[in-house]
Amino acid sequence: METKIPIWLKENAWRVLNSVVDSIVIISSRGSIQYVNEATLKTFGYKEHELLGSSLAMLMPAPYSDEHEHYVSRYLKSGDAHIIGIGRELSAQTKTGRIFPIYLAISEISDHGETFFAGIIHDLTAQEAARSKMLEQQNELAHVGRVNTMGELTASIAHEINQPLTAIAMYAQACLQMLDKEDIDKKRLSEAMDKLVVQSLRAGTVIERVQRFVRKESGQRELIDINSLIMDLKPLVEGDASLHEIELVFSLGRNLKKIMCDAIQIQQVALNLIRNAVDAMVETGCKNGSKIVISSAQNSDDTIQILVKDSGTGVKADQADFIFSAFHTTKVEGMGMGLSICRSIIERHGGVLEFHNNPDAGASFYFCLPLSIEPDTETTKMPDITRTTMG
Ligand code: ADP
Repeated sequence: METKIPIWLKENAWRVLNSVVDSIVIISSRGSIQYVNEATLKTFGYKEHELLGSSLAMLMPAPYSDEHEHYVSRYLKSGDAHIIGIGRELSAQTKTGRIFPIYLAISEISDHGETFFAGIIHDLTAQEAARSKMLEQQNELAHVGRVNTMGELTASIAHEINQPLTAIAMYAQACLQMLDKEDIDKKRLSEAMDKLVVQSLRAGTVIERVQRFVRKESGQRELIDINSLIMDLKPLVEGDASLHEIELVFSLGRNLKKIMCDAIQIQQVALNLIRNAVDAMVETGCKNGSKIVISSAQNSDDTIQILVKDSGTGVKADQADFIFSAFHTTKVEGMGMGLSICRSIIERHGGVLEFHNNPDAGASFYFCLPLSIEPDTETTKMPDITRTTMG
């Protein structure tokens, strides 16, 4: 069926092309630029006459620029599409030499036996920045995980250091005894002192390992808007949720006061609760529903509450006393560290982390944090109950 193009569009097509946010470049079959829209001039910083007649490769850094002409001629000879009709991510370069990520989609236009290609260039700078921010956040969270696991490992580290320290004390005592004697056996004394040095170095190595493990500082607290902290988690959890066709519903209270907390640690707690909720839903095959509700509210006792409600397995009565203990897990691949670390983080913030099984199905895990006593505590500006859903 032939599409009927409105007359105004036919007459104003160039206006439409110029209003498009993406750069549009039309090249001949020999690769020379025939047309560029205004977005191209703005993005790349060239004047129109500098681009017309030139190669599209002018807008790309090496090695893409070298590959480009090769693609076009190969396509014309063999019909091997490669990027034509498909599109791919590569880099572009402005007149000033700034290189930025783009998505280039090329389509073919035939007109009276002549072939042209239209390239649509979508700037991916913002997406790339968001992607690296997310990775950065994940790294931060992973780091907090390491730091807290560290707390749990303190006992074994103390044990490791205690052994060389005991040996050092023993050898030092032996040296003192030897020095007390009139006839000092220099050979034995120097052997004992060598052992003393070895043991000191051993203790030093343990400490160095610990320092490497906890390289970053943690525990910085600042006034935080809990709702934006929760919404920042969305990109980290939505992938996993949608993979299992689980819908995340964010139901955030309005005008919540800010709280004084370590944002990364509190995010880690919320993240763990959401991931556990997803696991519990997946375990039931989502037979009781496919929603996880994440809500925030200000309680009358001046605490801020974050609640994660699922319709998964719920916590079995015989497990309830253990789920907050370190290394307790009911999952084949679980570590059982999540809830114990979460509870210690929340308690260090003066709050509580609890759960209850829902009357219908699943469980609700929630934590309450005391409101900041800072005089400049502001209220967060949220519209009426915010509801965002994704599935
Ligand atoms: P892990 O997730 O590695 O098992 P956690 O400490 O986070 O470690 O959780 C401990 C246990 O608590 C889990 O193995 C599971 O049995 C239980 N649990 C945690 N969250 C939920 C939930 N939302 N629903 C049902 N059980 C849960």
